[in-house]
Amino acid sequence: MNFLPGGPQLDVLRLDMLHPIVSGNKWFKLKLQLQDAKQKNHTAIATFGGAFSNHIVAAAFAGKAINLQTIGIIRGEEPTLLSHTLQQAQAFGMKLHFASREGYSNKDSIKKQFSNENFYWINEGGCSILGAEGVKEMYQWIDDSYTHIVCATGTGTMMAGLIKGSKSEQQVIGINVFKGYNNIVNDIEQLLTAEEKVKRFKVINGYDFGGYAKHPQALLDWMNALYNKEQLPTDIVYTSKMMYAIYDLIQQNYFTKESKIMAIHSGGLQGNLSLKESVLKFGN
Ligand SMILES: *Cc1c(COP(=O)(O)O)cnc(C)c1O
Repeated sequence: MNFLPGGPQLDVLRLDMLHPIVSGNKWFKLKLQLQDAKQKNHTAIATFGGAFSNHIVAAAFAGKAINLQTIGIIRGEEPTLLSHTLQQAQAFGMKLHFASREGYSNKDSIKKQFSNENFYWINEGGCSILGAEGVKEMYQWIDDSYTHIVCATGTGTMMAGLIKGSKSEQQVIGINVFKGYNNIVNDIEQLLTAEEKVKRFKVINGYDFGGYAKHPQALLDWMNALYNKEQLPTDIVYTSKMMYAIYDLIQQNYFTKESKIMAIHSGGLQGNLSLKESVLKFGN
């Protein structure tokens, strides 16, 4: 990409193109956990998410593919009309259980309700050390010449995996899509060993566009402009904000001209399904 001529080299790892359903980072985070579930003789996996969660659909699809039953604990009361995401998850055989916002926040008590079942529990967003370990596989497409690897951060699990797999001279930068999630560095460090904690990484705040999944017109305009110029589709929750941040940081000369940046397009295009048609120029 060269939307800022004369700037550092910027490449985009198009994980959104890997697979139409489990596209993006969710597959990498799930892979080792599903293998672990099989190895430990579980027949079902259970996990958590919201009505537009990429993780829920990915878990439903991947579970079906390797013959594990899937259970989704969904935040909020059961709606009369299921979101497209939840319809898709259900079509892949996932059993949905709805938990009130209050009930949902107490994950331990939900797990207790199902204690008679032999469920293998996967955290919301696939967040765990195994989840992060699976992300290291992304380095098959990122060679050592890249000086910066940039990703969006939700739970920070993908970023933790990118830190684990990075070379000592590479820096991993996470763009925080939450407003006021100030504990994220701490949460990422929970997934790292002592040696990994001293690697080079940084979380950058201030590119949340008002908060998680908030998508003011300025963001939609940016997404359309980026698509027109580079044919790069992005989603409203994660990758549009990451790409905007990179663009802005390049303009501020945050990177030297000699830098070589790899931006991780982590998928997530389902998030755009919550928009009205024709808001985006590249369809949704
Ligand atoms: C889930 C998701 C993320 C966030 O990943 P974390 O490991 O939770 O930080 C980033 N991008 C996309 C497209 C996602 O779907």
